[in-house]
Amino acid sequence: MNFTYKAYSEMLKTALDSGYTVLCIRDLLKKSAIPPKVLVLRHDIDRNPHSMYPLAETELKLGIKSSIFVRVMGADYNPFSYRITTDLLELENNDFEIGLHSNFLEFATNTNQNPISILTAEVKALSSIYKIKGMSCHRDINYVINSLPYLQKNWGIIKQSTGLEYDAYDNTIFNKFIYVNEGLNPHLSWRNNSPLDIIKQGKSFYLLTHNHWWYEKIPFLS
Ligand SMILES: [Zn+2]
Repeated sequence: MNFTYKAYSEMLKTALDSGYTVLCIRDLLKKSAIPPKVLVLRHDIDRNPHSMYPLAETELKLGIKSSIFVRVMGADYNPFSYRITTDLLELENNDFEIGLHSNFLEFATNTNQNPISILTAEVKALSSIYKIKGMSCHRDINYVINSLPYLQKNWGIIKQSTGLEYDAYDNTIFNKFIYVNEGLNPHLSWRNNSPLDIIKQGKSFYLLTHNHWWYEKIPFLS
């Protein structure tokens, strides 16, 4: 499978035609019973935020929604630029979910700040524009300073301080599904499973994609 918008759209169409219920994380958590075949869609914007909209647009055209997690502190981009804000607000108005993508522990360690204060400030900043319920942890290069164990260990106080309702890696969500994501391994590929193989098997899966790997025709132009 190529990492083109067309290939992404065709994969989603195959899932829909095979009877999958496609959900963002927020809508998954609203379900009292999980449907038999579920595809959970999440995107983390690590870089090139302008390429998020074309990928999300393929979902919009199919009438499905995803969760889109945005960086704030330590980001290579301005999460409040006119362009990103306009794109994400349009997606939120179409019932997509916007959340926070953060490596708050690394940012706090490198700048000698309190990790929970940093995370609370990030949630507050994004919440001034979007309805933020959840977050996903980011890592830059490795696991040396990893926010996820810290987040999970301190979840009670973090929940209280930030008002967040869920962490995208929480075992109550994460362990129910096969996790599928793409990345350099060493070249761009699906890390463990390919979505089309999972769809053939009819198993529920949680798909994380990163907009900067996806493209219209030429990878380096998107
Ligand atoms: Zn990330």
